[in-house]
Amino acid sequence: MCKAMSNFPSRLLEGYQTFMSGRYADERDRYRQLAETGQEPHTLVISCCDSRAAPETIFDCGPGELFVVRNVANLVPPYEPDDNLHATSAALEFAVQALKIREILVMGHGRCGGIKAALDPDATPLSPGDFIGNWVKLLKPAAQQIQDSQLMTGGERQIALERISIRNSMANLRTFPCVKILEEQGKLRIHGAWFDISSGELWVMDSKTGDFFRPETAEA
Ligand SMILES: [Zn+2]
Repeated sequence: MCKAMSNFPSRLLEGYQTFMSGRYADERDRYRQLAETGQEPHTLVISCCDSRAAPETIFDCGPGELFVVRNVANLVPPYEPDDNLHATSAALEFAVQALKIREILVMGHGRCGGIKAALDPDATPLSPGDFIGNWVKLLKPAAQQIQDSQLMTGGERQIALERISIRNSMANLRTFPCVKILEEQGKLRIHGAWFDISSGELWVMDSKTGDFFRPETAEA
Protein backbone atom coordinates (compact mmCIF):
# COMPACT_ATOMS: atom_id res chain seq x y z
CA MET A 1 0.00 0.00 0.00
CA CYS A 2 1.50 3.33 -0.99
CA LYS A 3 1.78 5.93 1.67
CA ALA A 4 -0.16 9.14 0.98
CA MET A 5 2.00 12.20 0.59
CA SER A 6 1.14 15.10 2.80
CA ASN A 7 2.58 18.53 3.33
CA PHE A 8 0.27 19.09 6.29
CA PRO A 9 2.24 21.07 8.90
CA SER A 10 4.07 18.68 11.21
CA ARG A 11 3.63 21.06 14.16
CA LEU A 12 -0.14 20.68 13.84
CA LEU A 13 0.03 16.89 13.53
CA GLU A 14 2.23 16.67 16.62
CA GLY A 15 -0.12 18.94 18.51
CA TYR A 16 -3.08 16.83 17.44
CA GLN A 17 -1.40 13.69 18.72
CA THR A 18 -0.77 15.37 22.05
CA PHE A 19 -4.40 16.50 22.16
CA MET A 20 -5.71 13.01 21.43
CA SER A 21 -3.57 11.32 24.06
CA GLY A 22 -4.04 14.11 26.62
CA ARG A 23 -6.98 16.44 26.63
CA TYR A 24 -9.25 14.40 24.39
CA ALA A 25 -8.55 11.26 26.38
CA ASP A 26 -9.33 13.15 29.59
CA GLU A 27 -12.50 14.72 28.21
CA ARG A 28 -13.74 11.93 25.97
CA ASP A 29 -17.07 11.67 27.79
CA ARG A 30 -17.62 15.40 27.53
CA TYR A 31 -16.99 15.39 23.79
CA ARG A 32 -19.39 12.46 23.36
CA GLN A 33 -22.05 14.19 25.39
CA LEU A 34 -21.61 17.41 23.40
CA ALA A 35 -21.94 15.44 20.17
CA GLU A 36 -25.17 13.83 21.35
CA THR A 37 -26.88 16.76 23.02
CA GLY A 38 -25.43 19.65 21.01
CA GLN A 39 -23.53 22.65 22.26
CA GLU A 40 -24.71 24.88 25.09
CA PRO A 41 -21.94 27.48 25.44
CA HIS A 42 -22.43 29.90 28.34
CA THR A 43 -20.69 32.90 26.78
CA LEU A 44 -20.25 34.50 23.38
CA VAL A 45 -16.78 36.02 23.14
CA ILE A 46 -15.90 38.52 20.43
CA SER A 47 -12.14 38.77 20.29
CA CYS A 48 -9.26 39.52 17.97
CA CYS A 49 -7.61 37.10 15.53
CA ASP A 50 -4.30 37.79 17.27
CA SER A 51 -2.56 34.50 18.05
CA ARG A 52 -1.59 35.77 21.51
CA ALA A 53 -5.12 36.44 22.74
CA ALA A 54 -7.03 33.15 22.47
CA PRO A 55 -10.11 33.26 24.76
CA GLU A 56 -10.18 29.51 25.43
CA THR A 57 -6.63 29.71 26.73
CA ILE A 58 -7.05 32.92 28.75
CA PHE A 59 -10.25 31.75 30.46
CA ASP A 60 -9.15 28.11 30.72
CA CYS A 61 -12.35 26.90 29.06
CA GLY A 62 -13.04 23.41 27.78
CA PRO A 63 -14.98 22.18 24.76
CA GLY A 64 -18.50 23.51 24.46
CA GLU A 65 -18.05 26.42 26.87
CA LEU A 66 -17.30 29.44 24.69
CA PHE A 67 -18.84 30.45 21.38
CA VAL A 68 -16.03 32.52 19.90
CA VAL A 69 -16.08 35.04 17.09
CA ARG A 70 -12.66 36.32 16.15
CA ASN A 71 -11.99 39.13 13.74
CA VAL A 72 -9.36 41.82 13.25
CA ALA A 73 -9.48 44.10 16.33
CA ASN A 74 -12.56 42.41 17.87
CA LEU A 75 -14.99 44.80 16.21
CA VAL A 76 -18.76 44.53 16.11
CA PRO A 77 -20.31 46.36 13.17
CA PRO A 78 -23.64 48.16 13.64
CA TYR A 79 -26.88 46.40 12.76
CA GLU A 80 -27.20 46.61 8.97
CA PRO A 81 -29.87 44.31 7.53
CA ASP A 82 -28.82 44.37 3.87
CA ASP A 83 -27.43 41.93 1.31
CA ASN A 84 -23.80 42.46 2.23
CA LEU A 85 -21.68 39.76 3.82
CA HIS A 86 -21.83 40.13 7.60
CA ALA A 87 -19.85 37.32 9.20
CA THR A 88 -19.75 38.77 12.71
CA SER A 89 -23.46 39.67 12.64
CA ALA A 90 -24.30 36.13 11.47
CA ALA A 91 -22.38 34.62 14.37
CA LEU A 92 -24.05 37.01 16.81
CA GLU A 93 -27.47 36.12 15.43
CA PHE A 94 -26.79 32.40 15.83
CA ALA A 95 -25.38 32.80 19.33
CA VAL A 96 -28.29 34.84 20.67
CA GLN A 97 -31.24 33.49 18.72
CA ALA A 98 -30.35 29.80 18.26
CA LEU A 99 -27.99 29.00 21.12
CA LYS A 100 -29.75 31.40 23.53
CA ILE A 101 -26.45 32.68 24.91
CA ARG A 102 -27.09 35.37 27.46
CA GLU A 103 -23.55 36.54 28.30
CA ILE A 104 -21.59 38.45 25.65
CA LEU A 105 -18.00 39.52 26.14
CA VAL A 106 -16.06 41.86 23.88
CA MET A 107 -12.39 41.28 24.64
CA GLY A 108 -9.69 43.58 23.30
CA HIS A 109 -5.98 43.24 23.90
CA GLY A 110 -2.70 45.13 24.08
CA ARG A 111 -0.43 45.67 21.07
CA CYS A 112 -3.34 45.07 18.68
CA GLY A 113 -2.28 45.38 15.04
CA GLY A 114 -5.82 46.16 13.92
CA ILE A 115 -6.03 49.08 16.34
CA LYS A 116 -2.62 50.26 15.17
CA ALA A 117 -3.96 50.23 11.60
CA ALA A 118 -6.99 52.29 12.65
CA LEU A 119 -4.63 54.93 14.05
CA ASP A 120 -2.67 55.03 10.80
CA PRO A 121 -5.26 55.40 8.03
CA ASP A 122 -2.68 56.72 5.56
CA ALA A 123 -0.55 53.57 5.77
CA THR A 124 0.05 51.69 2.54
CA PRO A 125 -2.60 48.94 2.19
CA LEU A 126 -1.33 45.39 2.60
CA SER A 127 -3.09 44.43 -0.65
CA PRO A 128 -5.07 46.24 -3.35
CA GLY A 129 -8.30 45.25 -1.59
CA ASP A 130 -7.25 47.08 1.61
CA PHE A 131 -9.58 44.89 3.62
CA ILE A 132 -8.01 45.85 6.94
CA GLY A 133 -8.17 49.56 6.15
CA ASN A 134 -11.83 49.28 5.27
CA TRP A 135 -12.67 47.09 8.25
CA VAL A 136 -11.10 49.36 10.84
CA LYS A 137 -12.98 52.33 9.41
CA LEU A 138 -15.60 51.18 11.90
CA LEU A 139 -13.39 53.01 14.41
CA LYS A 140 -12.78 56.09 12.32
CA PRO A 141 -14.63 58.69 14.46
CA ALA A 142 -12.91 57.54 17.66
CA ALA A 143 -9.54 57.07 15.98
CA GLN A 144 -9.71 60.57 14.53
CA GLN A 145 -10.34 62.14 17.92
CA ILE A 146 -7.47 60.25 19.48
CA GLN A 147 -5.11 61.12 16.65
CA ASP A 148 -5.97 64.78 17.08
CA SER A 149 -4.89 64.76 20.72
CA GLN A 150 -1.46 66.28 21.12
CA LEU A 151 -1.30 65.28 24.77
CA MET A 152 -0.90 61.55 24.25
CA THR A 153 2.14 59.57 23.20
CA GLY A 154 1.86 56.91 20.51
CA GLY A 155 1.65 54.18 23.15
CA GLU A 156 -1.08 56.02 25.05
CA ARG A 157 -3.07 56.50 21.84
CA GLN A 158 -2.82 52.79 21.12
CA ILE A 159 -4.12 51.70 24.54
CA ALA A 160 -6.79 54.39 24.52
CA LEU A 161 -8.22 53.19 21.21
CA GLU A 162 -7.94 49.53 22.23
CA ARG A 163 -10.19 50.31 25.17
CA ILE A 164 -12.50 52.79 23.48
CA SER A 165 -13.04 50.33 20.63
CA ILE A 166 -14.37 47.81 23.16
CA ARG A 167 -16.99 50.31 24.28
CA ASN A 168 -17.69 51.06 20.61
CA SER A 169 -18.33 47.39 19.87
CA MET A 170 -20.56 47.11 22.94
CA ALA A 171 -22.59 50.08 21.71
CA ASN A 172 -22.90 48.48 18.28
CA LEU A 173 -24.07 45.24 19.88
CA ARG A 174 -26.98 47.21 21.30
CA THR A 175 -28.06 48.30 17.79
CA PHE A 176 -29.13 44.68 17.14
CA PRO A 177 -32.79 44.42 18.14
CA CYS A 178 -32.43 40.89 19.52
CA VAL A 179 -29.62 42.03 21.84
CA LYS A 180 -31.22 45.33 22.85
CA ILE A 181 -34.58 43.80 23.73
CA LEU A 182 -33.13 40.95 25.77
CA GLU A 183 -30.76 43.28 27.62
CA GLU A 184 -33.59 45.67 28.45
CA GLN A 185 -35.56 42.73 29.83
CA GLY A 186 -32.60 41.82 32.03
CA LYS A 187 -32.13 38.52 30.23
CA LEU A 188 -28.80 39.25 28.54
CA ARG A 189 -25.59 40.89 29.76
CA ILE A 190 -22.83 42.57 27.78
CA HIS A 191 -19.30 42.73 29.17
CA GLY A 192 -16.01 44.29 28.15
CA ALA A 193 -12.46 43.21 28.93
CA TRP A 194 -8.91 44.04 27.85
CA PHE A 195 -6.05 41.57 28.05
CA ASP A 196 -2.48 42.79 28.42
CA ILE A 197 -0.38 40.28 26.50
CA SER A 198 2.91 41.34 28.05
CA SER A 199 1.85 40.87 31.68
CA GLY A 200 -1.10 38.50 31.35
CA GLU A 201 -3.26 41.02 33.19
CA LEU A 202 -7.00 40.96 32.53
CA TRP A 203 -8.83 44.25 32.95
CA VAL A 204 -12.62 44.18 33.01
CA MET A 205 -15.01 46.99 32.32
CA ASP A 206 -17.15 48.61 34.99
CA SER A 207 -20.61 48.37 33.45
CA LYS A 208 -21.69 51.71 34.92
CA THR A 209 -18.69 53.96 34.23
CA GLY A 210 -17.04 52.18 31.30
CA ASP A 211 -13.70 52.30 33.15
CA PHE A 212 -11.42 49.28 33.20
CA PHE A 213 -10.24 47.79 36.47
CA ARG A 214 -8.50 44.66 37.68
CA PRO A 215 -10.99 42.29 39.34
CA GLU A 216 -9.79 40.98 42.71
CA THR A 217 -9.84 37.36 41.67
CA ALA A 218 -7.71 38.14 38.63
CA GLU A 219 -4.83 39.61 40.60
CA ALA A 220 -1.77 37.44 40.68
ZN1 LIG B 1 -5.73 42.49 17.82
